[in-house]
Amino acid sequence: MAGSTGVLFVSRVHGSSDPAEGPRAAPRGIRATIAGMRCQRTLKAAARFEGVGLHGGRTSTVTVEPAPEWTGLIFVREDLGGRRLPALQQYRAPMVNATRLEHDGVAVDTPEHLLAALYALGVDNALLRLEGPEVPILDGSALPFARGILERGLVDQDALCPEIVVTQPVGVGDASRRLELHPCDGFRLSAAIDFEHRHLGHQQLTVRLDRVEDFLAKLAPARTFALRRDVERLMEMGLARGGSLDSAVVVGDEGVEGSALRFPDEFVRHKLLDVVGDLALLGCPLRARVIAWRSGHALHGRLADALLSDPRNFLFESPPDGPPKPPAAPAPPGRAGSRAG
Ligand SMILES: [Zn+2]
Repeated sequence: MAGSTGVLFVSRVHGSSDPAEGPRAAPRGIRATIAGMRCQRTLKAAARFEGVGLHGGRTSTVTVEPAPEWTGLIFVREDLGGRRLPALQQYRAPMVNATRLEHDGVAVDTPEHLLAALYALGVDNALLRLEGPEVPILDGSALPFARGILERGLVDQDALCPEIVVTQPVGVGDASRRLELHPCDGFRLSAAIDFEHRHLGHQQLTVRLDRVEDFLAKLAPARTFALRRDVERLMEMGLARGGSLDSAVVVGDEGVEGSALRFPDEFVRHKLLDVVGDLALLGCPLRARVIAWRSGHALHGRLADALLSDPRNFLFESPPDGPPKPPAAPAPPGRAGSRAG
Protein backbone atom coordinates (compact mmCIF):
# COMPACT_ATOMS: atom_id res chain seq x y z
CA MET A 1 0.00 0.00 0.00
CA ALA A 2 1.89 2.98 -1.24
CA GLY A 3 1.48 6.20 0.65
CA SER A 4 -0.23 4.66 3.64
CA THR A 5 1.05 7.13 6.17
CA GLY A 6 -0.95 8.72 8.91
CA VAL A 7 -3.28 7.29 11.49
CA LEU A 8 -4.62 3.82 10.94
CA PHE A 9 -7.28 1.85 12.72
CA VAL A 10 -6.14 -1.55 13.83
CA SER A 11 -7.37 -4.34 16.02
CA ARG A 12 -5.38 -4.78 19.20
CA VAL A 13 -5.74 -8.37 20.27
CA HIS A 14 -4.21 -9.95 23.29
CA GLY A 15 -2.42 -13.24 22.68
CA SER A 16 -4.45 -16.40 22.50
CA SER A 17 -4.94 -18.05 25.86
CA ASP A 18 -4.71 -21.46 24.20
CA PRO A 19 -1.15 -21.95 22.93
CA ALA A 20 -2.17 -25.05 20.97
CA GLU A 21 -4.77 -23.11 19.02
CA GLY A 22 -4.13 -22.93 15.29
CA PRO A 23 -4.90 -20.13 12.85
CA ARG A 24 -8.22 -18.53 13.71
CA ALA A 25 -10.46 -15.66 12.91
CA ALA A 26 -9.44 -12.49 14.69
CA PRO A 27 -11.32 -11.66 17.80
CA ARG A 28 -12.10 -7.99 17.55
CA GLY A 29 -10.26 -6.50 20.48
CA ILE A 30 -9.78 -2.95 21.61
CA ARG A 31 -9.74 -0.65 18.62
CA ALA A 32 -6.97 1.87 18.78
CA THR A 33 -5.19 4.30 16.54
CA ILE A 34 -1.65 3.43 15.60
CA ALA A 35 0.44 5.61 13.36
CA GLY A 36 3.05 4.23 11.03
CA MET A 37 2.02 0.58 10.67
CA ARG A 38 3.94 -0.49 7.61
CA CYS A 39 2.86 -2.49 4.60
CA GLN A 40 3.72 -6.11 4.13
CA ARG A 41 6.64 -6.63 1.79
CA THR A 42 8.07 -9.20 -0.57
CA LEU A 43 10.85 -9.38 -3.19
CA LYS A 44 10.53 -8.11 -6.74
CA ALA A 45 12.30 -11.18 -8.08
CA ALA A 46 13.79 -14.40 -6.77
CA ALA A 47 17.25 -14.45 -5.16
CA ARG A 48 19.28 -17.68 -5.18
CA PHE A 49 22.07 -18.65 -2.80
CA GLU A 50 24.34 -21.68 -2.97
CA GLY A 51 26.91 -23.07 -0.55
CA VAL A 52 27.61 -25.75 2.03
CA GLY A 53 25.57 -26.32 5.14
CA LEU A 54 27.53 -25.52 8.30
CA HIS A 55 26.52 -28.57 10.29
CA GLY A 56 25.76 -31.21 7.65
CA GLY A 57 28.53 -30.16 5.26
CA ARG A 58 26.44 -30.84 2.14
CA THR A 59 26.08 -28.38 -0.73
CA SER A 60 22.64 -26.85 -0.82
CA THR A 61 20.82 -23.98 -2.46
CA VAL A 62 18.04 -21.76 -1.21
CA THR A 63 15.97 -19.61 -3.56
CA VAL A 64 14.00 -16.80 -1.95
CA GLU A 65 10.90 -16.20 -4.08
CA PRO A 66 8.23 -13.48 -3.97
CA ALA A 67 4.95 -14.57 -2.36
CA PRO A 68 1.49 -13.03 -1.94
CA GLU A 69 0.55 -11.07 1.17
CA TRP A 70 -0.34 -13.13 4.25
CA THR A 71 1.89 -16.00 3.07
CA GLY A 72 4.57 -15.49 5.70
CA LEU A 73 7.97 -17.13 5.30
CA ILE A 74 7.67 -20.76 4.25
CA PHE A 75 10.49 -23.22 3.57
CA VAL A 76 9.81 -25.57 0.67
CA ARG A 77 11.97 -28.71 0.63
CA GLU A 78 12.35 -29.13 -3.12
CA ASP A 79 14.43 -32.27 -2.57
CA LEU A 80 11.49 -33.83 -0.67
CA GLY A 81 8.86 -33.22 -3.33
CA GLY A 82 8.06 -29.67 -2.30
CA ARG A 83 7.01 -30.34 1.29
CA ARG A 84 6.44 -27.12 3.19
CA LEU A 85 7.58 -25.97 6.61
CA PRO A 86 6.61 -22.48 7.78
CA ALA A 87 9.35 -20.54 9.57
CA LEU A 88 7.38 -20.27 12.80
CA GLN A 89 8.17 -20.79 16.46
CA GLN A 90 5.71 -23.65 16.75
CA TYR A 91 7.93 -25.74 14.46
CA ARG A 92 11.18 -25.04 16.25
CA ALA A 93 12.87 -28.22 17.42
CA PRO A 94 14.71 -28.18 20.76
CA MET A 95 18.44 -28.01 19.99
CA VAL A 96 21.42 -26.89 22.06
CA ASN A 97 23.90 -25.31 19.65
CA ALA A 98 21.77 -24.78 16.58
CA THR A 99 18.40 -23.71 15.28
CA ARG A 100 16.23 -26.33 13.58
CA LEU A 101 12.68 -26.29 12.29
CA GLU A 102 10.94 -29.62 12.17
CA HIS A 103 7.44 -30.87 11.54
CA ASP A 104 5.99 -34.16 10.40
CA GLY A 105 9.34 -35.64 9.37
CA VAL A 106 10.54 -32.54 7.48
CA ALA A 107 13.38 -30.47 8.90
CA VAL A 108 15.31 -27.32 8.04
CA ASP A 109 18.62 -26.61 9.75
CA THR A 110 20.46 -23.31 10.29
CA PRO A 111 17.74 -20.96 9.06
CA GLU A 112 18.69 -18.15 11.46
CA HIS A 113 21.01 -15.96 9.37
CA LEU A 114 18.66 -15.96 6.37
CA LEU A 115 15.71 -15.27 8.68
CA ALA A 116 17.60 -12.43 10.36
CA ALA A 117 18.18 -10.81 6.96
CA LEU A 118 14.53 -11.22 5.94
CA TYR A 119 13.33 -9.86 9.28
CA ALA A 120 15.61 -6.84 9.20
CA LEU A 121 14.78 -6.03 5.57
CA GLY A 122 11.07 -6.27 6.41
CA VAL A 123 10.37 -9.16 4.05
CA ASP A 124 7.15 -10.66 5.41
CA ASN A 125 6.20 -12.96 2.55
CA ALA A 126 8.49 -15.32 0.67
CA LEU A 127 8.86 -18.94 -0.33
CA LEU A 128 12.28 -20.27 0.68
CA ARG A 129 12.89 -23.11 -1.76
CA LEU A 130 15.56 -25.32 -0.29
CA GLU A 131 17.48 -28.13 -2.02
CA GLY A 132 18.69 -30.08 0.99
CA PRO A 133 18.17 -30.10 4.74
CA GLU A 134 20.20 -27.01 5.60
CA VAL A 135 20.37 -23.36 4.58
CA PRO A 136 23.87 -22.66 3.16
CA ILE A 137 26.17 -20.95 5.63
CA LEU A 138 27.88 -18.78 2.94
CA ASP A 139 30.44 -16.59 4.76
CA GLY A 140 28.88 -17.24 8.19
CA SER A 141 27.08 -13.90 8.29
CA ALA A 142 23.78 -12.49 7.01
CA LEU A 143 25.40 -10.01 4.63
CA PRO A 144 25.33 -12.14 1.42
CA PHE A 145 21.63 -12.88 2.02
CA ALA A 146 20.80 -9.24 2.69
CA ARG A 147 22.75 -7.99 -0.33
CA GLY A 148 21.31 -10.62 -2.67
CA ILE A 149 17.76 -9.83 -1.61
CA LEU A 150 18.26 -6.06 -1.85
CA GLU A 151 19.75 -6.46 -5.35
CA ARG A 152 16.48 -8.07 -6.48
CA GLY A 153 14.53 -5.24 -4.87
CA LEU A 154 11.63 -5.14 -2.44
CA VAL A 155 8.01 -4.26 -3.10
CA ASP A 156 5.32 -3.07 -0.70
CA GLN A 157 2.09 -5.06 -0.78
CA ASP A 158 -1.46 -3.88 -0.11
CA ALA A 159 -2.02 -5.45 3.30
CA LEU A 160 -0.66 -3.90 6.46
CA CYS A 161 1.75 -5.87 8.58
CA PRO A 162 0.72 -7.17 12.02
CA GLU A 163 3.06 -6.65 14.92
CA ILE A 164 3.73 -8.15 18.32
CA VAL A 165 4.00 -5.46 20.98
CA VAL A 166 5.53 -6.59 24.27
CA THR A 167 3.52 -5.17 27.16
CA GLN A 168 5.35 -6.49 30.23
CA PRO A 169 8.81 -7.89 30.98
CA VAL A 170 9.44 -11.53 30.10
CA GLY A 171 12.64 -13.36 31.03
CA VAL A 172 14.22 -16.80 30.88
CA GLY A 173 17.53 -18.21 32.10
CA ASP A 174 19.45 -18.31 35.34
CA ALA A 175 22.37 -16.56 37.02
CA SER A 176 24.85 -17.64 34.33
CA ARG A 177 22.84 -16.81 31.19
CA ARG A 178 19.73 -14.75 30.75
CA LEU A 179 17.46 -13.34 28.08
CA GLU A 180 14.73 -10.75 28.60
CA LEU A 181 12.11 -8.81 26.67
CA HIS A 182 10.88 -5.41 27.83
CA PRO A 183 8.30 -2.99 26.45
CA CYS A 184 9.86 -0.51 24.02
CA ASP A 185 8.64 1.80 21.28
CA GLY A 186 10.74 0.18 18.56
CA PHE A 187 13.11 -2.76 18.28
CA ARG A 188 16.22 -2.41 20.38
CA LEU A 189 18.70 -5.08 21.40
CA SER A 190 21.48 -5.30 23.95
CA ALA A 191 23.79 -8.25 24.31
CA ALA A 192 26.81 -9.18 26.33
CA ILE A 193 29.05 -12.20 25.99
CA ASP A 194 31.65 -13.39 28.45
CA PHE A 195 33.99 -16.25 27.54
CA GLU A 196 36.80 -17.58 29.65
CA HIS A 197 39.32 -17.18 26.85
CA ARG A 198 42.08 -14.60 26.55
CA HIS A 199 41.18 -13.74 22.94
CA LEU A 200 37.43 -13.77 23.46
CA GLY A 201 36.46 -12.20 26.75
CA HIS A 202 33.73 -9.71 27.60
CA GLN A 203 31.96 -7.74 24.85
CA GLN A 204 28.70 -5.82 24.99
CA LEU A 205 26.70 -3.78 22.54
CA THR A 206 23.32 -2.09 22.17
CA VAL A 207 21.74 -1.45 18.76
CA ARG A 208 18.45 -0.10 17.45
CA LEU A 209 17.16 -1.98 14.44
CA ASP A 210 14.43 0.37 13.26
CA ARG A 211 16.28 1.06 9.99
CA VAL A 212 17.62 -1.38 7.42
CA GLU A 213 20.86 0.61 7.32
CA ASP A 214 21.47 -0.17 10.99
CA PHE A 215 21.27 -3.87 10.31
CA LEU A 216 23.47 -3.73 7.22
CA ALA A 217 26.17 -1.71 8.96
CA LYS A 218 26.13 -3.16 12.46
CA LEU A 219 24.95 -6.77 12.46
CA ALA A 220 24.69 -8.30 8.99
CA PRO A 221 28.47 -8.65 8.38
CA ALA A 222 29.19 -10.34 11.74
CA ARG A 223 30.18 -13.98 11.23
CA THR A 224 29.55 -17.20 13.10
CA PHE A 225 32.32 -17.93 15.57
CA ALA A 226 33.62 -20.85 17.57
CA LEU A 227 36.49 -21.62 19.86
CA ARG A 228 39.02 -24.03 18.33
CA ARG A 229 38.68 -26.25 21.40
CA ASP A 230 34.91 -26.51 20.79
CA VAL A 231 35.13 -27.28 17.06
CA GLU A 232 36.27 -30.90 17.55
CA ARG A 233 33.56 -31.40 20.16
CA LEU A 234 30.92 -30.09 17.76
CA MET A 235 32.19 -32.40 15.04
CA GLU A 236 31.95 -35.38 17.39
CA MET A 237 28.31 -34.41 17.89
CA GLY A 238 27.83 -34.53 14.11
CA LEU A 239 27.77 -30.73 13.84
CA ALA A 240 30.05 -28.21 12.10
CA ARG A 241 30.99 -30.67 9.34
CA GLY A 242 30.73 -27.87 6.77
CA GLY A 243 32.62 -25.39 8.90
CA SER A 244 35.80 -23.79 7.57
CA LEU A 245 37.72 -20.56 7.97
CA ASP A 246 35.68 -19.28 4.99
CA SER A 247 32.41 -19.68 6.86
CA ALA A 248 33.26 -19.00 10.50
CA VAL A 249 35.67 -17.18 12.75
CA VAL A 250 37.66 -19.72 14.72
CA VAL A 251 39.44 -18.50 17.84
CA GLY A 252 42.43 -20.55 18.92
CA ASP A 253 44.96 -20.18 21.70
CA GLU A 254 47.01 -17.77 19.55
CA GLY A 255 44.03 -15.63 18.57
CA VAL A 256 41.75 -15.42 15.53
CA GLU A 257 42.60 -17.96 12.80
CA GLY A 258 42.18 -17.09 9.13
CA SER A 259 40.94 -13.69 7.96
CA ALA A 260 40.89 -10.65 10.22
CA LEU A 261 37.87 -9.69 12.26
CA ARG A 262 35.34 -7.41 10.55
CA PHE A 263 34.69 -5.57 13.84
CA PRO A 264 36.73 -5.66 17.05
CA ASP A 265 33.52 -6.84 18.73
CA GLU A 266 32.33 -9.08 15.89
CA PHE A 267 31.43 -11.85 18.34
CA VAL A 268 28.78 -9.95 20.28
CA ARG A 269 27.44 -8.55 16.99
CA HIS A 270 26.94 -12.09 15.72
CA LYS A 271 25.20 -12.97 18.97
CA LEU A 272 22.74 -10.16 18.28
CA LEU A 273 22.31 -11.40 14.71
CA ASP A 274 21.38 -14.84 16.02
CA VAL A 275 18.88 -13.30 18.44
CA VAL A 276 17.19 -11.48 15.53
CA GLY A 277 17.12 -14.63 13.38
CA ASP A 278 15.66 -16.78 16.13
CA LEU A 279 13.05 -14.21 17.19
CA ALA A 280 12.03 -13.89 13.51
CA LEU A 281 10.26 -17.21 14.12
CA LEU A 282 7.57 -15.20 15.93
CA GLY A 283 6.27 -14.59 12.42
CA CYS A 284 5.88 -10.82 12.45
CA PRO A 285 7.77 -7.74 13.63
CA LEU A 286 8.39 -7.42 17.35
CA ARG A 287 8.21 -4.17 19.25
CA ALA A 288 10.38 -4.74 22.30
CA ARG A 289 13.73 -4.27 23.89
CA VAL A 290 15.77 -7.47 24.03
CA ILE A 291 18.50 -7.93 26.64
CA ALA A 292 20.76 -10.96 26.19
CA TRP A 293 23.42 -12.02 28.69
CA ARG A 294 25.47 -15.01 27.47
CA SER A 295 22.46 -16.32 25.57
CA GLY A 296 22.38 -19.03 22.91
CA HIS A 297 19.94 -20.61 20.47
CA ALA A 298 18.22 -22.75 23.10
CA LEU A 299 17.55 -19.73 25.31
CA HIS A 300 16.29 -17.70 22.33
CA GLY A 301 13.71 -20.40 21.69
CA ARG A 302 12.68 -20.55 25.33
CA LEU A 303 12.17 -16.78 25.41
CA ALA A 304 9.83 -16.85 22.42
CA ASP A 305 7.88 -19.69 24.04
CA ALA A 306 7.71 -17.78 27.32
CA LEU A 307 6.47 -14.65 25.54
CA LEU A 308 3.68 -16.51 23.77
CA SER A 309 2.71 -18.67 26.74
CA ASP A 310 1.05 -15.80 28.63
CA PRO A 311 -1.42 -13.60 26.73
CA ARG A 312 -0.76 -10.74 29.15
CA ASN A 313 2.80 -10.45 27.80
CA PHE A 314 1.92 -8.89 24.46
CA LEU A 315 -0.62 -7.33 22.15
CA PHE A 316 -1.02 -8.74 18.66
CA GLU A 317 -1.74 -5.70 16.51
CA SER A 318 -3.35 -6.77 13.29
CA PRO A 319 -4.94 -4.69 10.53
CA PRO A 320 -8.71 -5.09 10.49
CA ASP A 321 -8.98 -5.72 6.75
CA GLY A 322 -6.99 -8.92 6.26
CA PRO A 323 -6.77 -12.50 7.41
CA PRO A 324 -5.02 -12.09 10.74
CA LYS A 325 -2.14 -14.33 11.59
CA PRO A 326 -1.97 -15.21 15.25
CA PRO A 327 1.41 -15.31 16.92
CA ALA A 328 3.11 -18.67 16.56
CA ALA A 329 2.30 -21.04 19.37
CA PRO A 330 4.97 -22.62 21.56
CA ALA A 331 6.35 -25.93 20.35
CA PRO A 332 5.04 -29.03 22.06
CA PRO A 333 7.53 -30.95 24.20
CA GLY A 334 9.91 -32.45 21.67
CA ARG A 335 12.81 -34.79 21.22
CA ALA A 336 15.99 -32.87 21.84
CA GLY A 337 18.56 -33.21 19.13
CA SER A 338 16.63 -35.61 16.91
CA ARG A 339 17.45 -35.64 13.22
CA ALA A 340 14.88 -35.75 10.47
CA GLY A 341 14.57 -35.08 6.76
ZN1 LIG B 1 24.74 -17.54 13.95
